[in-house]
Parts: sequence; structure tokens; C-alpha cells
Amino acid sequence: MRVLLAEDDPIIAEGLVRALSKSGCTVDHVTTGIDADNAVASAEFDLLILDLGLPRLPGIEVLKRVRARKSTVPVLILTAESGVEERVRGLDAGADDYLVKPFALPELEARIRALVRRGSGNPTGVAVGNLRFDTVERVVRYRDQLLDLSAREVALLEVLMSRAGRVVAKEQLIERLCGWGEEVSPNAIEVYIHRLRKKLEVCGNNIATVRGLGYYLEKPRDDIA
Ligand code: CA
Repeated sequence: MRVLLAEDDPIIAEGLVRALSKSGCTVDHVTTGIDADNAVASAEFDLLILDLGLPRLPGIEVLKRVRARKSTVPVLILTAESGVEERVRGLDAGADDYLVKPFALPELEARIRALVRRGSGNPTGVAVGNLRFDTVERVVRYRDQLLDLSAREVALLEVLMSRAGRVVAKEQLIERLCGWGEEVSPNAIEVYIHRLRKKLEVCGNNIATVRGLGYYLEKPRDDIA
């Protein structure tokens, strides 16, 4: 899951980036409203966490612009004020939920899970054969057995499973994995795919390589019939 965090308070931002990354999300972090608006316009995100008190363009204006472009990205607003008015304005402008600072991380995580659940067409997850991706817990199970995967492997498998049988370009996988702060090379993707393929062997799911194009998750034989 790719999250855009628009927050200018370095301490709050650092805590959020750490917590979200730990739970397997790819986080892009911006500190101004202008940067947030540009980011949403230029890349696809699964969630926008938007501080309303942002420099250069207030969060509420960012939200209005995002919705004016017909973007349906779920938006969770963060507000320093406990006033009802600001929250109402945020929700009226198209936010899906809000949190008043200071908040506890577990509460934020619970709100995110609820938003993602609401936003995804399938509330429990994606299944390919006996492989099941749980979008709430962000884990993958094979016949109810939890697979031991790294956060990056989970992120890769999420994309591959949601498009099972269809080719996903290597560039798309790279984009999925890298926050702007870190580089993921094409070679690194090959290594991740190699490891993931090994871990999926026991499940009978294979990740096929399409030379020069990308990868796709083969549907298991018992699934085709
Ligand atoms: Ca702020």
C-alpha cells in the first residue's frame, strides 16, 4: 500500500513514517501543501494522510484541489485544533476521516485499516488459488498458514496478486516499493522477486518473468479449471 503523508511537523512525521513502514506501507513524505498537491496529481496513492496546518497551501485547499480533480483517494486529515468547525469543513471538502492531534499510533492504525477496508471492493482481501492476501492485517496466508515475508515482499505480492495472470511492469513494481527517499534498482527488484518466488514454491504459485516487460503471478492449475 502506498501512502502519501503530508505533515510539516518533523517529530510527528518521523513517528508516522516509521510506524507505517513497519506495517508494510510505502510512505512518501512531503512537508508543504504545494508538494502534497503535486504528488497526488502525479502518482497513484492508496491513502493520503493530510495535516490541515501545512505551509504554502493549507491542507483544506489541497483537499479541495484533490477532489476537484475527481481523485477518489481516501483522505485522513490530521488537525491540531479540537474545534468542531475545522473538522466539519474537512469532511465537507471530501475527507473520509479525521484525527485530532495529539493521537495515539494504534488509533491512527485502526483508522487506516477501517479506511482501507471501506475503500477496497473486497473487504477481506485478495485470493489467488489457496493464497490469500489480508488487506487489513497486511499478511499473506497459504491454506491458513502465515507466510514468512518481509514488508517489501508483502508489498510486491500485493501488486502481483491484485493483478494475478496479468503482467506487471518492472517499473510499476519499483514505483510501488520506493518512497522518494530511497532508491530501488531494477536489479534489486530481481532479487526480491527471486526470493519471493522461492517462498511461494511450497504454495504452488509461480511468478513468471516476461523478458523485457515484467512479471506476473501465474494462476495455479487447480484454479484454471
Ligand atoms: Ca502542521
